[in-house]
Amino acid sequence: MIDQADVVVIGSGGLGASTAYHLTKAGRKVALIDQAAIASQTSPRAAGLSGQLRRSETMTRLAVAAVKKIERFTEETGEPMVFFQPGSLKIARLPQHETQLQEEVAIGKRMGLDVDLISPAEAKSLMPYLETTGIRAVTHMRTDIYLEPVQLPLGYARAAEKRGAVLLPDTRVTGIITERGAVTGVRTERGEIRTEVAVDAAGGWLRSVAALAGAGAPVVPTRHQLMITVPLPEVRPEQPITRIIDANVYVRPDKGGLMLGGYEANPVQYDMQSLPPAWRIDDLELDLGVLRRLAASVREQFPIFENIALQEHRGGLPTMTGDGEHVIGPVPGVHGLYIIGGCCVGGLTTAPAFGEVLAAWITEGEPPMDLSFMAPARFAGRLPEDVLRERCRVQYSHHYWSHASMPRSAA
Ligand SMILES: Cc1cc2nc3c(=O)[nH]c(=O)nc-3n(C[C@H](O)[C@H](O)[C@H](O)COP(=O)(O)OP(=O)(O)OC[C@H]3O[C@@H](n4cnc5c(N)ncnc54)[C@H](O)[C@@H]3O)c2cc1C
Repeated sequence: MIDQADVVVIGSGGLGASTAYHLTKAGRKVALIDQAAIASQTSPRAAGLSGQLRRSETMTRLAVAAVKKIERFTEETGEPMVFFQPGSLKIARLPQHETQLQEEVAIGKRMGLDVDLISPAEAKSLMPYLETTGIRAVTHMRTDIYLEPVQLPLGYARAAEKRGAVLLPDTRVTGIITERGAVTGVRTERGEIRTEVAVDAAGGWLRSVAALAGAGAPVVPTRHQLMITVPLPEVRPEQPITRIIDANVYVRPDKGGLMLGGYEANPVQYDMQSLPPAWRIDDLELDLGVLRRLAASVREQFPIFENIALQEHRGGLPTMTGDGEHVIGPVPGVHGLYIIGGCCVGGLTTAPAFGEVLAAWITEGEPPMDLSFMAPARFAGRLPEDVLRERCRVQYSHHYWSHASMPRSAA
């Protein structure tokens, strides 16, 4: 235990560990605290996919920067990183999604990304388990990657430690101490740490940690699951990630089989403050029925998932926001408190860039680019809980839909 740090980062998932690492790179003395083992909660359960073509140019730039950092991860941090770069296919089966793909290709090309519309037959030659019936359009984004999820948070945490950060696993933060509206310390089960800067990177518990300083964080932890089939003869790691827009389903090679995950219409939302302090992601109740129904919704494209045996089924608690954007930056009204979360099921492969920009924001006093669309300050006034939950549900259940093709209430 230490009694003083320049910055205390609460939460050692992808977002917290990346922030801690980039702060140590900027010369800050950092304590990285987790109530569980380091990098053990939602982050290691992710699918590990990048999606670089995003809803806005800024998000696209950040997602591209994150992938570049993953490509150089071992060189930068000295830590292992297994990743594949087979690119990704995005499939439209409805007319409005054909238009969405045309628009995405135009944006991607304007931004210099290696993305094109390809024929369904070409898509099948890249992903042999894909059937082409009913496909109206397909894009191929050639630089998308997938990675082994645990290596990212663990690698950043270890790299931060090598640069002097103190890692405190199995240490729950129970208080954020403030004086005259400014952070002066962080209280843990094992004692207090004096600091003027605290970062809430508590993932599913983001709101509970913000509440320790009397602050709000309007995010809703939402269960998300995936399954991995037994090994299949034609699967190769070099086959692309495949996303089906209308069904909000993704497929990729993993462990010799195929992984399938997706976004159901009525996901289970959590209120962490109603759970006991000892509750962990291991305690999350999973439901294979959700994934079987998602698999049935893409039966025409991936009949292979019908009644197939599985080698793995896992899930975690990413957090949704009402507008589908992350929450990153200083918390209004509590000087020295920052938040990084609201990942909307995309915070693992973006963490290299987000941790870097938050570290710059903390050390330089301002963000390296206009990030107001992600700032906690955009949530002026609190939404009624039922309205927030409904907005988060709509964002979740239309994960691959553009703003233009989403139901009006969410766009
Ligand atoms: C099945 C699945 C598939 C996914 N697929 C992808 C994908 O393909 N690509 C992608 O980018 N993202 C994906 N995600 C989302 C991704 O996992 C999250 O965006 C990311 O892990 C968020 O990281 P985090 O650091 O915010 O949270 P976490 O990894 O949950 O870390 C938060 C940490 O805070 C700690 N903590 C909480 N409260 C306290 C406290 N009071 N004191 C101390 N510590 C505390 C917790 O113990 C935890 O370790 C997926 C998620 C799931 C579940």
